[in-house]
Amino acid sequence: MSTVHPPHGTSEALLADGTTVELRPLGPDDHRAVLDLHAEGMSEESRRLRFFGVSRNAPAQAADRLCAPRPDLLALGAWAGDQLVGEADCELVDDPPQTAELALAVADRWHGKGVATLLLEHLVHRARADGICFFEADTLFGNQAVHQVFADLGLPVERRYAQGEVRIRVPLEESDERYRSAVDVRGRRADIASLAGLLRPGSVAVVGASRRPGSVGRTVLGKIRRGGFTGAVWAVNPHADEIDGEPVYPSVRALPAVPDLAVLAVPAGAVPGVAEECGAAGVRALVVLTSDLDVQEARGLMRACRRHSMRLVGPNSLGTAQTDPAVRLDAEFGGAFPRPGTAGVAVQSGGVGIALLERLAWLGIGVSSFVSLGDKYDVSGNDLLQWWEADGRTDLALLHLESFGSPRAFARTARRVTRTVPVLTVDAGRSTAGRRGAASHTAAAATPTVTREALFRQAGITATRSIDELVEAAALLHAQPLPAPRGAVAVVSNAGGIGILAADACAEAGLELPELPAELGKLLPSGASVRNPVDTTAAVGPAELALFLRALEDEQAIDALLVCLVPTALCATPGQDPARALMEGPARRRLPIAAVLLDQQVPVRYRTCVDGGMLPAYSDSVAAARALAHAVDRARWLAEPEPVPVDAPGCDRHTARSLIDGYLTAHPAGGWLDPLTTADLLEAYGLPLTTSMWARDEHTAVAAADGLRRLGHEGKVALKAYWPGQVHKSALGAVRTGLATDDEVLAAYREFTEKFGAELAGAVVQPMAVPGVELLAGVVQDQVFGPLVVLGMGGTATDVLDDRAARLAPLNERDLTTMVTELRSAPLLMGSGAAPPVDLAAVRAVLARLSRLAEDFPELVEADLNPVIVRPDGAVCVDARVRVERRPSFDPYLRRLRRPSAAEGM
Ligand code: ADP
Ligand code: MG
Repeated sequence: MSTVHPPHGTSEALLADGTTVELRPLGPDDHRAVLDLHAEGMSEESRRLRFFGVSRNAPAQAADRLCAPRPDLLALGAWAGDQLVGEADCELVDDPPQTAELALAVADRWHGKGVATLLLEHLVHRARADGICFFEADTLFGNQAVHQVFADLGLPVERRYAQGEVRIRVPLEESDERYRSAVDVRGRRADIASLAGLLRPGSVAVVGASRRPGSVGRTVLGKIRRGGFTGAVWAVNPHADEIDGEPVYPSVRALPAVPDLAVLAVPAGAVPGVAEECGAAGVRALVVLTSDLDVQEARGLMRACRRHSMRLVGPNSLGTAQTDPAVRLDAEFGGAFPRPGTAGVAVQSGGVGIALLERLAWLGIGVSSFVSLGDKYDVSGNDLLQWWEADGRTDLALLHLESFGSPRAFARTARRVTRTVPVLTVDAGRSTAGRRGAASHTAAAATPTVTREALFRQAGITATRSIDELVEAAALLHAQPLPAPRGAVAVVSNAGGIGILAADACAEAGLELPELPAELGKLLPSGASVRNPVDTTAAVGPAELALFLRALEDEQAIDALLVCLVPTALCATPGQDPARALMEGPARRRLPIAAVLLDQQVPVRYRTCVDGGMLPAYSDSVAAARALAHAVDRARWLAEPEPVPVDAPGCDRHTARSLIDGYLTAHPAGGWLDPLTTADLLEAYGLPLTTSMWARDEHTAVAAADGLRRLGHEGKVALKAYWPGQVHKSALGAVRTGLATDDEVLAAYREFTEKFGAELAGAVVQPMAVPGVELLAGVVQDQVFGPLVVLGMGGTATDVLDDRAARLAPLNERDLTTMVTELRSAPLLMGSGAAPPVDLAAVRAVLARLSRLAEDFPELVEADLNPVIVRPDGAVCVDARVRVERRPSFDPYLRRLRRPSAAEGM
């Protein structure tokens, strides 16, 4: 019987109504609380359902059982402040194996908030990590509440009925997608409920509002009042009794009612105390404008928020603004109150926020809500995406994030939200220098670019390289229809040279310019050219141009129009400006239009058309082409079928788990697995490592080679010296290939002995593989993003060619395809001329299995299969290295609130 590991750690998570609870394993100190839960928190009827009877001793027995440290029992408690509100436990049973007996109890007052479900999710997570495959529970037939909990959980449930009792059996292994989406839906509901105090508050207090004009607190207070907030606003400051003729209260406690939201503009040292006071009073959310909190202050703030169930924006936030007419809250000190509209804006850096809001205001895109996230201790871009998805007002999400709290959760949310709402972001911190800046600036190391690009691409997010590019892309996506995914553009200009520049810009942005039918030329002045780019000549008038554009719209070969106009002397004639052809037509046509007006002074603005719609006009064709390319990318992403997660059947998780645990027990600091363990691990996951025999001396090497030669290409073997910690074997002369006879094997081994001396631990003997294309396939664990699966050209060419593709795990079917096609060397794999294609199915299987391995074992920090030799008839790996390290188990699908690194160790 395996034992349950000592349970690690505490986490906080949200209940269905948005309340925060703390989840942690029960221990001897919790005896009193467990007793209270069962004796006082539960009615006699609840106890009867829980204990199948009404024994007076049941609560005490439960407390004894749950609080005694035992290796075969895992008991989790859910705490609201100091009160234990629920408990879930599982106890290993010998028969059937890998099964744990489950029990649950929730205080009566806390029923209906999802306490049991949340506890169960966490218990499932821990049990899975411990290799438990089944939960079993006996429940009374009439225990509707418990049956409902199991029915809603999202895992398959088997039920057996006998004598008024129901035996429930829950397999924990498979059916992940259904379970994950059930968890997702619950998480979303809880998240949105918890954010209401922040984004739709009924009342607000500004704490630290001083009389000094120009101070942050006073500025925000003034803005809230002038902005027409629909609820009550109060000022709190112990050192003032009125500001602008309005009363000031000495403390949050002294307010006439409990505010939903408190905006804190107090000195850093006062933040924890004020936060605690707000929490104790019942405030639901904090926006902390204060910056430069030290570690103690950060921890104090976080503790108060978690303990009292408050969501937190900041610290170091510029504030928030909510334009919903039912709220109208302007609680920020950035700029002007944004115009109401449909763009959701969340920024990490306040400065970027100001710049972005100004550009949007200028352009005429209104804002639904704006949040300056600051140091992002709690509320993150992820939360806002969920809010905007559901708020019924937002149809464009604009983000500026320098780091990701939980990137995998973010990717999952973004992937869903961006199906309905375009999500645009500035890819901040791309360069090494930018990353340094981002790291020192936000205290959270920004994430490496390769993974970040992978994340954005996989999630369907429009990633731009500057604020201007973001606004330019937003202008098009906001006002124009999406082009067809093919992305074929017609470039039309009234000056040939300008048209050619625009065509170049389109080609560089990855857009196609198909040829147009010659007869379209009949619609244009003589001398015009209808090759794409179209040169209408300067003689074109608005009426002619309008007709021509209408004709282009019927061209099935075209998906978007880029119309580029230069003012000429002819335009000065009244009514002759060809730009009128654009504005006097409808803004929204079958095809999206980006206009380039070379006399425009600003990079992008909207022109109002006859139908009242907006036409984005750019001053430069590069910006217009880039915006169109972003729209095409989005169209392509949307046109792709929903990604199907890859299947990797028959992976033996238990064997792999015991191999990794075994290694880590012997080597607590982690390290590279030895060749045999590596081979066993890969075999457990169906990865095609060639037969590898271990030889500890020259005689065993010869004996092993004897048998293997029959399997080897041309009857030959490879011999590889091994010692712990080795890196590149062939560079050190530790690989001998093509050994045909016993003598050659013997000689090669002796050479190793001479060269490596006492260091040599032994050697690996393998049959020679039939030559083919050498690929590299592997896994890298990114600290922040989680596992990445990598495919590239392998063998000795690995570093020279630097030809690689990477995707975040878990991979889907599409990733498998694009990873291969994206390689510059893809033609080598696809076959050409006489060379047949390699066995791509075998390559895909390797990637799928690596993805599964990486997902299942966060301890696997690095895996390097190099080379995997691929041929038309299969794939075989002849060299694999795997490094493992102890890692806190990380499950992106587990519902829990983030822990900000600045406030770690609370
Ligand atoms: P390292 O990468 O540590 O230098 P490898 O085991 O990958 O060592 O061997 C180096 C190269 O030798 C491989 O890229 C491959 O070309 C060749 N090689 C190694 N083992 C075999 C084998 N069993 N069959 C065919 N070729 C092999
Ligand atoms: Mg190698």
